[in-house]
Amino acid sequence: MSLHHSIYDSPVFRQACRQFDLAADILGMETGVRERTKQPRRCLTVMLPVRLDNGKIETFEGYRVQHNISTGPAKGGIRFHQDVTLGEVAALAMWMSWKCSLVGLPFGGAKGGVVVNARDMSTGELERLSRRYMQEIATFIGPNLDIPAPDVGTNEQVMAWMMDTYSNHVGHYDPGVITGKPIALGGSLGRREATGEGVSWFTQAYLTDAGLKAADTTVVVQGFGNVGSETALALAAWGAKIVGLSDFTGGVANPRGLDVKDALAYVAANRSLQGYQGGETVTNAELLELPCTVLIPAALERVITEQNAGRLQCRFIAEGANGPTTNEADLILAQRGDIELIPDVLCNSGGVIVSYFEWLQNQSAYYWSKEEVFSKLHTMLAKAKASVEGTKKKFNCTRRTAALVLGIARVAEAKAKRGLFP
Ligand code: NAD
Repeated sequence: MSLHHSIYDSPVFRQACRQFDLAADILGMETGVRERTKQPRRCLTVMLPVRLDNGKIETFEGYRVQHNISTGPAKGGIRFHQDVTLGEVAALAMWMSWKCSLVGLPFGGAKGGVVVNARDMSTGELERLSRRYMQEIATFIGPNLDIPAPDVGTNEQVMAWMMDTYSNHVGHYDPGVITGKPIALGGSLGRREATGEGVSWFTQAYLTDAGLKAADTTVVVQGFGNVGSETALALAAWGAKIVGLSDFTGGVANPRGLDVKDALAYVAANRSLQGYQGGETVTNAELLELPCTVLIPAALERVITEQNAGRLQCRFIAEGANGPTTNEADLILAQRGDIELIPDVLCNSGGVIVSYFEWLQNQSAYYWSKEEVFSKLHTMLAKAKASVEGTKKKFNCTRRTAALVLGIARVAEAKAKRGLFP
């Protein structure tokens, strides 16, 4: 099947397909199995009429893509962003499949999205949109079928409205349908921190392997939402110096170090980093090229490109975001050879791991301590890191391809053992 005839065709979907093909080449995957494993299983498009506060009706478009349901219920977040496309959601769903499989979770992969600038909505409008989206996808998902979670533009409150809508739909409290909920509604301790905790854990582990210490480490983080802020807090608590931060309004840089808690308090009061006085104002493009030990993209896809990959001044890239590095940039980084890249499917897997713990706790109605959550999380991260490093050595490939080889092989094997239908 040619990609150009696919409804998912887009730069980001092609990026995910190219990454897949590099791993499938190493696995020697034949064409029939390759296409069947690569292409998303199914998708749903929904129209969402919402009553705005001014009395008018506005209709939004939403998607849910289930890339893989062969290895368990599908799993993946819901994005609210004005640039969401079906192709982007499909690429993100594909990455969820490999990620869940890589770290050994009993899930497939999915993603959802709504084309909306949620920042411009009132709380009431956002609630009506969230409930309507869940109402429309309710028959397509479920605790044993597909379990959503937060992503860009959605948060614990959105998860709470969606869980309530789904529970009303099925007629009983059913928290296992969605993860990333508030603690009061069956959320897991540590879920809010989980993705950043994982990004920070991998960063520390790889720096330690390279003989670097916290005190020698400077960090630049792009994106100051759930993932970016929790990563920055965790690395600052470890003792690293955060020298650059940004959000959609731009960035702030200070070689002497930024106070992450102070920046977070500013954002809580002002809704963005714009006007924050902690250092020099920089653009997002400039931020990525700042000298630092670790560069952490934690916003959107395709920000490390052929334009800037040759100019980066970091020693490590820890991908908090999904898909931040284009295929062309991957090649430049591999040629440079002086930057260690910790790929998204490994680096940000802490989020879905603790989402899995949340789902387990919901299914058993028995709740764990934060220490238990983090200790089990760290064990799974260490195991995934060791298997990626072993595979990287075995095939003499990039760390990204090694991680994808592991994730893809398990999905392909499960499909082969089940037969052609799942
Ligand atoms: P979020 O909505 O909480 O935060 C996004 C941040 O990025 C905000 O600070 C926003 O202002 C900023 N941003 C948006 N556009 C930007 C731009 N053009 N330039 C710079 N900054 C920009 O979202 P999040 O949950 O933190 O997700 C961030 C990334 O991490 C996404 O790629 C997401 O898929 C990935 N991720 C999230 C989780 C999770 O648990 N939330 C898990 C794994 C991966």
